[in-house]
Amino acid sequence: MTVFAPVTDDLLRQYDVPGPRYTSYPTADRFVEAFVGADYAQALTQRRSGVAALALPLSLYVHIPFCESLCYYCACNKIITKHHEKAEEYLRYLGREVELHTALMGTAQSVSQLHLGGGSPTFLSDEELRSLMAMLKRNFSFVPGGEYSIEIDPRTIDERRLDTLAELGFNRLSFGVQDFDLAVQKAVHRVQPAEQVFSLVAAARSRGFESINVDLIYGLPKQSPESFDRTLAQVVELKPDRIALYAYAHLPDRFKPQRRIHTLDLPTGGSKISMLSRSLAALLGAGYVYVGMDHFALPDDALAVAKRQGRLHRNFQGYSTQPDCDLIALGVSSIGRIGATYSQNAKTLEEYYDALDHGNFPVVRGLALTRDDLVRRAVIMALMCQGNVQFESIELAYLIEFRSYFAKEMEALQGLSEQGLVSLDDTGIQVTDKGWFFVRAVAMVFDRYLQTDRTRARFSKII
Ligand code: SF4
Repeated sequence: MTVFAPVTDDLLRQYDVPGPRYTSYPTADRFVEAFVGADYAQALTQRRSGVAALALPLSLYVHIPFCESLCYYCACNKIITKHHEKAEEYLRYLGREVELHTALMGTAQSVSQLHLGGGSPTFLSDEELRSLMAMLKRNFSFVPGGEYSIEIDPRTIDERRLDTLAELGFNRLSFGVQDFDLAVQKAVHRVQPAEQVFSLVAAARSRGFESINVDLIYGLPKQSPESFDRTLAQVVELKPDRIALYAYAHLPDRFKPQRRIHTLDLPTGGSKISMLSRSLAALLGAGYVYVGMDHFALPDDALAVAKRQGRLHRNFQGYSTQPDCDLIALGVSSIGRIGATYSQNAKTLEEYYDALDHGNFPVVRGLALTRDDLVRRAVIMALMCQGNVQFESIELAYLIEFRSYFAKEMEALQGLSEQGLVSLDDTGIQVTDKGWFFVRAVAMVFDRYLQTDRTRARFSKII
């Protein structure tokens, strides 16, 4: 089966190799432990003194690590617990982390993007969500019309809770669905009837949430191309504004929960390619636009519109319509970006609480970008977001001669050009319609760290 004429199963198979998702460049596996809380504090102080940065609103990410029950495919940083009192303590520490920021930045910083992720943010009770949002609103100035989103585990929410989310100002919801098939749900220990998701999505629509996203995963145990076709048909009927379709990467040595998945239940590589190919055909056939990198949107969704108009951006949450802005990431294991730095918080609660008890930012690693990193980040993000790089704009911004600076890369692009994935001329690089499905492979050409390190097995597959 082909997705649309030029994207064949053979091409999908050829590019079905591990690669970074480029929610940052350099990617998080390049962060170093020499970057600590003091470096992060310095980046925040520099931001405060920079006139341009002050004018740009901030993005906030808050990580809520708790979940009540374990999904066997999970590769997230989470804590499985039924002890809800843990959330109360965690929120107190989040408050301390915010205070460290406002001590350096003041409380007038505007915010145009907020994302609550996890774990399961809906592990928090309504009252806890209220207190979290009140704390954030006391310390930051949320601009009207921003993107305020939250990840939802359908098993932890009902219509009444949707009212709370609307009242708190969330305008985007992301539902973790993965697969509607009961055998698959049982095999991954996440049973949530389709009817429950359908009625929650209908209730969310009637409450006027601007955008509803559904996450799906292919490659899970007990899935087959036929069973996943049925899930896709249900998703098309559900008609969310956005769909994220991820490939399951079975790495039981790295992610302990995955050891509970029986290897024999996993679909073969051939079945996975077939699921991907059939998914692309089903979703494009149903009128969805392929935004890029696992993401689909209805043609009138802001993300699809931004893609058409060349206004897509990319950050740690994936594609966004908001201009690149600094990202303050709060909570255990969160990754933030301030100016030309990235930073990551401690991954365990103990370490995270300990740093805050001592009045320190809980940053345990990060990176101050070199000039070369900045040039390459600009090229990679232009490819991932606009599918186009104009040599002149990079040359003017970074004072380089593009084709000599990237002589090796331009040579490497010839192969992709011959396959019709990019077109090259004297002015720039254009990712073709066909190449858009493999844009990560195009971006990887410009990744200096991959050129020196070919051990890419730690990344998920590139499509
Ligand atoms: S997949 Fe999500 S809900 Fe499930 S255990 Fe992992 S973080 Fe929690």
